[in-house]
Amino acid sequence: MRTKLCLLYGGKSAEHQVSLQTAKAVIGALDLNKFDIYPIYITTEGNWIEGNKLTAPANEVSELQFAGDGQSSAVAQSLISKKYDVIFPLLHGPNGEDGTVQGLLEVMNLPYVGNGVLASSAGMDKVIMKNIFAQANLPQVNYVWLTRKMWEENKEAAYEKAEKVLGYPCFVKPANLGSSVGISKCTNREELEAAYEEAFQFDRKIIVEEGVTARELEIGLLGNEDPQCSVIGEIVPKKEFYDYKAKYEDGNTALIIPAEISEDVQTNMKRKAVTAFQALDCSGLVRADFFLTENGELLINEINTMPGFTPFSMFPLLWKHAGVEYPLLIEKLIDLAKERHEEKQ
Ligand code: ADP
Ligand code: MG
Ligand code: MG
Repeated sequence: MRTKLCLLYGGKSAEHQVSLQTAKAVIGALDLNKFDIYPIYITTEGNWIEGNKLTAPANEVSELQFAGDGQSSAVAQSLISKKYDVIFPLLHGPNGEDGTVQGLLEVMNLPYVGNGVLASSAGMDKVIMKNIFAQANLPQVNYVWLTRKMWEENKEAAYEKAEKVLGYPCFVKPANLGSSVGISKCTNREELEAAYEEAFQFDRKIIVEEGVTARELEIGLLGNEDPQCSVIGEIVPKKEFYDYKAKYEDGNTALIIPAEISEDVQTNMKRKAVTAFQALDCSGLVRADFFLTENGELLINEINTMPGFTPFSMFPLLWKHAGVEYPLLIEKLIDLAKERHEEKQ
């Protein structure tokens, strides 16, 4: 039976462009004998534009066939009418990966790929995520958090909070984002002040973390309640850290698959990754990222509930190495979405 698959992409977040790259790749990989593909493009302003069914893989996302007047109401109607069997939100960051779109799809009782409302929202907010990791006894770096209001009311106290608890170097990040957007490494007060300014442009809440010197290891998880682990990969940023440019523009950050690490570290990381997955009640897919410090400590950095998903991104490459090619990976995710939906009924 053919599956009517609706792809949601674009989105009202700083990761809009990344989402477009992903959509293009997913459309190119889907078997048109098995799937009817319906694109829905979300503009940076947050308008949902419904496309016509695709009859061929798109070379460029701009070549997708869009109909309608760009009004969101028509899209809502087509979602309500259950025109689609499965929705695949290919969205990163706020208003896509953070449980908001997932909530909409839940309310409409539609099967969708990936994490549910709770895991998506808890995974998007780095402070909440780290609080949950702490509860699950997962080792991680020390951190503090602040709101823009706290900072504006007493800037000196806001800087001192990070300096007293963490010292330098530290990392300042918007609480709710990904793709390294708005993140700075700071080695002194001047940089810390600039980093707060920057991070508060993206979010009303920020997290400041103790900076570690460490190898960066990543693992993919796939499944619902009992996820499977992929092999482990390592990222070797050529820059100071794995920033937005290194992730999406340079293309010269080395991804080493499988990572050259001991059996012990592998076992330890797989166990911790599954603990993190279950602690946040994840489903579908997760990429769990760790730091392996110079003295051999394995610290969880974050999980990503909608990891980079082009064929050249870590998550698909990890599964490719495990024998799951990109088109099959997409089909597995769609099956997991249907499975979870049926369990809920
Ligand atoms: P994002 O969700 O945007 O990927 P991360 O928390 O993974 O944010 O940070 C992006 C990158 O910054 C990491 O991949 C790593 O290179 C670097 N980094 C982040 N936090 C730390 C830290 N506490 N110590 C050292 N490096 C860090
Ligand atoms: Mg992230
Ligand atoms: Mg990251």
